[in-house]
Amino acid sequence: MRVDYHMHLEKGSLTLDYLEQFWLQAKAVGLDEIGISEHGHNFRQYRGIMGHLARGAGDYPGIANWLSDKFSLHLDDYVALIQAGKERGWPLKLGLEMDYIPGKEKEIAEIIEAYPWDYVLGSVHFLGNWSFDFSPESGWPEKDINSAYVAYFTALLAATRSGLFDSITHPDLIKIFGHEPSIPLEPYYEALATALSKVDTCVEINSAGLRKPVGVIYPHPAFLQKCHAVGVPITLACDAHDPHDVGRDLEAAIVLAKSVGYTSVATFAKRRRILQPLG
Ligand SMILES: [Zn+2]
Ligand SMILES: [Zn+2]
Repeated sequence: MRVDYHMHLEKGSLTLDYLEQFWLQAKAVGLDEIGISEHGHNFRQYRGIMGHLARGAGDYPGIANWLSDKFSLHLDDYVALIQAGKERGWPLKLGLEMDYIPGKEKEIAEIIEAYPWDYVLGSVHFLGNWSFDFSPESGWPEKDINSAYVAYFTALLAATRSGLFDSITHPDLIKIFGHEPSIPLEPYYEALATALSKVDTCVEINSAGLRKPVGVIYPHPAFLQKCHAVGVPITLACDAHDPHDVGRDLEAAIVLAKSVGYTSVATFAKRRRILQPLG
């Protein structure tokens, strides 16, 4: 089964016409099912979770400005749109990409419980008030690369251990701009794979890295190998922010999955996981 479980409507509008463009592209590239996973921070309900990062900018006024323009949509409208798409017979899943913010577990859980999600993705884009994937000019020049990687994997481990999510997305996004640490990452891969297995959460293979400066898929094959060894299922993602990127480089993600031994991909219905043959 060919699925892409990670895409965003944020560059368009919450309308059936725009949503249909995603499904038409999916159909054109041979996908059986797609999951829409808008960013939590686009919704007003997320202000209580990330709003503090848009105030008190500290060293990152550009990031705070960017974030302060978010939190504008309503989750009710988003959920109703995806339901309306389903009613038209489009094979859609209702998802959400939620930033894990330490200390906000209760607020995140409340949003998860409030809507009939098919699945919820957990991600880390912020380390404190630094959005490390915002730009290579923002924060990176003055950072110690090793410390940034350690902080990232520590945060991702906490996100995983929270047990809130169905899949952990782009699980080495910290490499987005191609910064390379000199410390070994194996211990972090090991700890993360073990934690994923323990809370029975999937790991996402995300082809968007191929379109970024790093030029490779998330995550690293060595990490994926460890996930496979301890029985962590995968979800598949192209992380489209435009309809034309739906399913883009999915084949490369499937090849990577198969290369470490995966034969199935996780799909979801109302947060119940269904493994399907990887096709
Ligand atoms: Zn993301
Ligand atoms: Zn995304």
